[in-house]
Amino acid sequence: METHEYDVIVIGAGGAGLRAAIEASVLGARTALVCKSLLGKAHTVMAEGGIAASLGNVDADDNWRTHFQDTLFGGKYLNNWRMAELHAKEAPDRVRELEHWGGVFDRTPDGRMSQRAFGGHTYRRLVHIGDRTGLELIRTLQDKGVHQGIDVFMECTVTRLLKDGDRVCGAFGYWRSTGDFVVFRAKALVLATGGIGKSYRITSNSWEYTADGHALGYEAGAQLVDMEFVQFHPTGMVWPPGVVGLLVTEAVRGEGGILRNGEGERFMERFDPKRMELSTRDVVSRAIYTEVQEGRGSPHGGVYLDVSHLPASFVKRKLPSMYDQFLGLAGVDITREPMEIGPTCHYAMGGIKVDAETGASRVPGLFATGECSGGMHGANRLGGNSLSDLLVFGKRTGEGAAEYATHASTPVVDEAQVAAGEVEMLGYLDGEGEDPYALHAELQDTMQDDVDIFRERAQLERALAKLDELQSRAANLRPTGGRVFNPGWHLCRDLQNMLVCAQAVTRAALQREESRGAHSRLDFPEYDDFWGEHNLVVERGPDGGMRVEPAPVVKVAELETLVLERMAVELA
Ligand SMILES: Cc1cc2nc3c(=O)[nH]c(=O)nc-3n(C[C@H](O)[C@H](O)[C@H](O)COP(=O)(O)OP(=O)(O)OC[C@H]3O[C@@H](n4cnc5c(N)ncnc54)[C@H](O)[C@@H]3O)c2cc1C
Repeated sequence: METHEYDVIVIGAGGAGLRAAIEASVLGARTALVCKSLLGKAHTVMAEGGIAASLGNVDADDNWRTHFQDTLFGGKYLNNWRMAELHAKEAPDRVRELEHWGGVFDRTPDGRMSQRAFGGHTYRRLVHIGDRTGLELIRTLQDKGVHQGIDVFMECTVTRLLKDGDRVCGAFGYWRSTGDFVVFRAKALVLATGGIGKSYRITSNSWEYTADGHALGYEAGAQLVDMEFVQFHPTGMVWPPGVVGLLVTEAVRGEGGILRNGEGERFMERFDPKRMELSTRDVVSRAIYTEVQEGRGSPHGGVYLDVSHLPASFVKRKLPSMYDQFLGLAGVDITREPMEIGPTCHYAMGGIKVDAETGASRVPGLFATGECSGGMHGANRLGGNSLSDLLVFGKRTGEGAAEYATHASTPVVDEAQVAAGEVEMLGYLDGEGEDPYALHAELQDTMQDDVDIFRERAQLERALAKLDELQSRAANLRPTGGRVFNPGWHLCRDLQNMLVCAQAVTRAALQREESRGAHSRLDFPEYDDFWGEHNLVVERGPDGGMRVEPAPVVKVAELETLVLERMAVELA
């Protein structure tokens, strides 16, 4: 079988994977990137609004402390404090570095990187280029990575991590075009596979977001944290049907967009009069959902987002993709008419539990970074804090993996594990079975209807029963066609990942008997003191079943004063 060997293999070529691979390579590790889409097409390319970093270019008072406080306030204090501290302190340097590597961003009149307002950020903080920031970030990192000499295996999907005793020693996967199998041997592996959004029917996420890294890590023995917190972005398109869920960037509100319900009321006055449209995403999503449920929605089940009061030239310059998106897809000229929008599943706060300094999971040799890692954002992520997270922890994780590889022995791959990987994939092509697309639609309906913005016990229990049923049916899938270029076959494996994560999200949501951040329980609408001090950790138990246990929030004594200061301001 085709086999490749490296010191460090990074699975995923989004912002996090690229940044990790660059760092590992700079430190002398023989490094490869494996990604299931084309290089440059990772989900990060879709990011629009900006990268959060307290450069203070526009609002001179900004500093890492305020960024840290905003991040914890947004995450309802469940964030790993050390991660939030490192993130706030290091984001400015990571952004400047990106600029030195050739990243081009919008400028202030005096030539510095411009920064825009975003929900939950005290100051204008997001470095951006119009509403195409992810494209510039990916382009810059990709150029840097290619020139750094990283090898890239694209359109190659990893389906299994290989282990040598307790440690990981490689990965098994297939080439998407031919269906042939491939083995990667490595001293250290970095998971940077992004999110889980394709488990929901209405989502801003691309086809890649099938929870692969979350499930691969879990199956290899890593812990997941904060899985109950799934972010529903307040503004996705609701019309026409073919584009439901497509993101309408928060930059629209950052640049002055106004939300109104079907009766023309600026309803955020009732939900967060202080921050209005620039409240945090959890609050705005619940507000929109409530307006629609109570009969004050727009004709297609959303509300209105309006920038028509802003000069048309400004809208076209600052929000060019939004202008094109609405004109091309919905026939709406946003410089003249309001957009119709509603919540869409957007981001997984939950992910692989990692060490803040190095990105190491509890499995020796296994690291994680980016959206597939957890802890940084707590109960709710602030807009712009993902791209900065990718840069800060991508670098740290690349360092961590390279350092580990320096001391690790040459990995030994167990042929039986490789054979099991082959048997699993070929099994989907044997005999009779269900259509994977139909099963996927049922999974998406279950998560959308019962594990949505508002949850309650009966719904969550119904979802769990349905997930158990889907899990047993997923053992017997049969796509049409064979191994060559067959997304139906690929989906058979993706479904196993999505089902693991759907279970983790639902079980954790059932245990957290309170409402906090992105997790709202109709039967437990208030904060609970115990849960305000605990995260939920998911792991595979000794019997192979899923175990979900509370664990104390990771705090840093020296940061206590900053946190208490912010809590006092919010309570005042
Ligand atoms: C429309 C949109 C706009 C956004 N705008 C912003 C913004 O303005 N600011 C902000 O901070 N955040 C934004 N976000 C969120 C942010 O873009 C993502 O959280 C972030 O890009 C995730 O990066 P990543 O590197 O973790 O993963 P990704 O960029 O998704 O990369 C994942 C990589 O893993 C690969 N992969 C996955 N599974 C496998 C497998 N099994 N085998 C091999 N490879 C695999 C994929 O091919 C891909 O290369 C936005 C999100 C969306 C959807």
